[in-house]
Formats: sequence, structure tokens, C-alpha cells
Amino acid sequence: MKMISSDDRKDYLEITWAELRSTVEPSFAERSLIYHRDYLTTATIVTSSAVNITEHAVLTADGQSLAYDYLVVATGHVFASAGSRTERLAEFQRDNGKIKSSESVLIIGGGPTGVELAAEIAVDYPEKKVTLVHRGSRLLDFIDQKASKKCLDWLTSKKVDVLFQQSVDLKSLSDTEKFYKTSAGETITADCHFVCIGKPLSSSWLHDTILKESLDTKGRVMVEKDLRVKGYNNIFAIGDITDIPEIKQGYLAQKHALLVAKNLKLLIKGSPPSKLATYSTGFPLAIVSLGRKEGLAQLPYLTLTGCIPGMLKSKDLFVGKTRKQMGLNA
Ligand SMILES: Cc1cc2nc3c(=O)[nH]c(=O)nc-3n(C[C@H](O)[C@H](O)[C@H](O)COP(=O)(O)OP(=O)(O)OC[C@H]3O[C@@H](n4cnc5c(N)ncnc54)[C@H](O)[C@@H]3O)c2cc1C
Repeated sequence: MKMISSDDRKDYLEITWAELRSTVEPSFAERSLIYHRDYLTTATIVTSSAVNITEHAVLTADGQSLAYDYLVVATGHVFASAGSRTERLAEFQRDNGKIKSSESVLIIGGGPTGVELAAEIAVDYPEKKVTLVHRGSRLLDFIDQKASKKCLDWLTSKKVDVLFQQSVDLKSLSDTEKFYKTSAGETITADCHFVCIGKPLSSSWLHDTILKESLDTKGRVMVEKDLRVKGYNNIFAIGDITDIPEIKQGYLAQKHALLVAKNLKLLIKGSPPSKLATYSTGFPLAIVSLGRKEGLAQLPYLTLTGCIPGMLKSKDLFVGKTRKQMGLNA
């Protein structure tokens, strides 16, 4: 079977859960940014955005028409970073330089990205003053209240200042700014800032395609239990772009991918759609790293902070494991 993979401008895959470690230790990204050509050895890789889907082909921004018998849409979130792996490595060096040359750092956003970045800086650069501003009333609002509180206590123990129910006007930000006014009228002084707010879904490009009727009001692609897009026999969707009611996480996107690979084999062998494997959601699990040794885990009926969740995730952030799954050296 001929396989074609299209990515928007990027020539590499980023293991996103290593992003914050790479910000404090840029060389970490050498293993978490992986050229597509290193693991997609039998596929044709097209480095251009998909801009349209017709019944038989995907059209790309650089004018190609990629014919398909089966299609898998996995465009997740808009990726605003660099186009090439080399540029992305340089971005991590720049961000790390920003932290190193600052005495104080402002982090905007108290979701997993903001929390993990605050923790990485607090552990690796304990002498820096870190302030985290969050619009909501608790950190990590996708996990339960007890876990949120444990996370806050951990950050506070590392002298991170957390301000709730306040926001910073993103339009007013500049690299030279040192004083940040919050919506509550407080002024935070910081030598640099990082914006850690959720990225939009990359589904706006689907509005003019044959899949426009398959989007829900939030722009997510509606899928059946076998992960075929509603209304289509030969088009699947996986990962963050889908309307599957679960926390959007990479390990779940991997599960979707394995299921769709299985279903594609079945369809190609001639199995009827009624025989396809189906996906069911499980109990929400989440592990948030808190620096290099500790972490916070939300498990069924239990939340844990400290070294045990840290042992599971925080040392290598599953980078070696993910690389091995891709057939690469850890
Ligand atoms: C900082 C951070 C930390 C995280 N930590 C964890 C964690 O610890 N554990 C966990 O399980 N999950 C974690 N996640 C979530 C995880 O990264 C996502 O759930 C996962 O990446 C979703 O995969 P995806 O393939 O659906 O989408 P994405 O990873 O968003 O990938 C979509 C890809 O499609 C490309 N694309 C977009 N539009 C187009 C287009 N029109 N044409 C062609 N290509 C396009 C994008 O460039 C991108 O490469 C984290 C996410 C972030 C940002």
C-alpha cells in the first residue's frame, strides 16, 4: 500500500510533552524533535499544509493533489513554531537564553503547559522569581480539585507566586516589557514572559472541504466508534481533532492511531464495516511532571504527588519510550 503523509510546514515530529524540559535544557530537544524521514521510512512525506479535501484527493498549499483510497485526518492543534527542526532547536536555545538572563519570569496560563514550565524553572533555576497568572480559579482544571490543590501546594513550596482569576492582555505584550498589568489591576514585574495558553484546533481549513458537515460547533471532527468520520466509509479522524469525549492527550491519540491502522487493514482485506474494531474511552488518567524528579498523577480514585509519579514520567518524559515505539534508539 502506498502511504502519503502531509505535515504543514514542518519536516519533523515534536514529542510535545518534552517541550518544557527542552526550554530549560535545550539539548533535550535533540531526542524529542525527530525528522519525519527517520521514522516514516516507507512513506512519501509532503511538507505542505493540506488545504482541501475532495472525494478522491487532498489538495495542498503548494498545489499538489494527493489521491487517496483511505484518508486519516489528524491535524490536532495549530502549530505556531518553527518550520524546520534546526529552527525549532534554535527557538529552544533562545527561550533558554531568555530564562538564564532574567531574574524574574512571568508565565501566563495555569494549564499543564504553564504548570510544567513553572515547575521546570523553579527546579532548575531556584534563584529566579517565577509568577504564574491564571484566568481560572484553580490550576489544571481538567483534573480533580484535590489534584489541583496538591499542584498549587507544590508550586507554592518552590516559591512560585500563583495569581488566580486574573489575566494579562496578550495584545499588550512585548519582549521589552517589564511591567505587566493584570485584569484585576495588579502590576507584576518580570524580566521576561512565556504565554502558555491552549492552542486553537487546526480545523478551520476543513470548513470548505467535503468534511464541513462532519464538524461539531467547536470545530471538532465527529467520529463513529470505529473512528470513521461521520458520514464517510473511507475517511478516519484521530487525536485531538476528534469529538471523542476525553482529555486530549498524546497517549490517547496513539491508541486511536493503532485502532485505525487495524481497521484500515481489515477494510483493505475486504471486511465489512460492521466488523471494524471500536474505541471506548477509559477512566481519565493524567501525569503532570513537576521538574526532574517529582510529578502529579491523577489515577482512578487516587491522586498522587511526589517521587512516584515523578519516577513514571519526569526523568525522561517518555521520550525514550516514544522513540522506541517509533523504531528508533531510545
Ligand atoms: C506542552 C504540551 C505538553 C503535553 N503533555 C502531554 C503529556 O504529558 N501526555 C500526553 O499524553 N499528552 C500530552 N500533551 C498532549 C499531546 O501533545 C496531544 O494530545 C497530541 O500531540 C495530539 O496529537 P495529534 O496528532 O492529534 O495532534 P498534534 O500533536 O497537534 O499534531 C497535529 C499535526 O498536524 C499538523 N497540521 C495541522 N494542520 C495541518 C494541515 N492543514 N495540513 C497538514 N498538517 C497539519 C501540525 O503541524 C501537527 O504536526 C501535551 C501537549 C502539549 C502542547
